[in-house]
Amino acid sequence: MRSRQEVFIGREKQEILEKSTVAVVGLGGTGHAAAEYLARAGVSLILADNDVVERCNMGRQSYGADDVGRLKVVVMEERLSPLTSVESHAVMLSDINIDKILSKADIVLDGSDNFGARFLVNDWCVKRGKPFTYTGAIRAEVSFCFWLPGRPCLRCVFSGKTADDSCEKDGILSPVAAFAGTLSAIEALKHLIGEKPVEGLVSFDFFESRFEVLKAKGREGCACSGQGML
Ligand SMILES: [Zn+2]
Repeated sequence: MRSRQEVFIGREKQEILEKSTVAVVGLGGTGHAAAEYLARAGVSLILADNDVVERCNMGRQSYGADDVGRLKVVVMEERLSPLTSVESHAVMLSDINIDKILSKADIVLDGSDNFGARFLVNDWCVKRGKPFTYTGAIRAEVSFCFWLPGRPCLRCVFSGKTADDSCEKDGILSPVAAFAGTLSAIEALKHLIGEKPVEGLVSFDFFESRFEVLKAKGREGCACSGQGML
């Protein structure tokens, strides 16, 4: 099934992927695409989301008309379990359940759409030394970073963040969130097979045809004790 990938990375690294587990928090525009391609690549998944599919999701998320009203975790588990092992949780992540849900993951991919949820994941991963990815997608813009122990964390980079951008308010071009999710999946796979993930805050603006990697410094006193660049 994964012969093309194996030609590229080799049997040994394919076996590493097949023994790895990635948690995807949120199965919206970014998370559903990340989960889909991680399953196809062979990693086991832990999925957490408590939303149901709405008709307005279908413009950018690969849910079908028959899925409307069903839990996203249930739809994705049905779709992806023929490809890999899938453990799903129809809950909103909280201080109470986060340990139980994410502990087994080798990496956490955050597909949340608000900084409250992102900081919850950030703080838990920093405390546990667990790698995680951040993704943001709005209009024709994507931002992304990969956190590893020793690097500055989201609280270092976004400490002044008071309000969330919102696709509902500002809109988004249809494929942009899925691009962000796929990028996140690629970087997770790289890390699992020993390739160095991208450093810095990666930023794409497709309408401006601009791609940048921004440097971010650690914030003094932050729990991450991050040094150097994000
Ligand atoms: Zn920090």
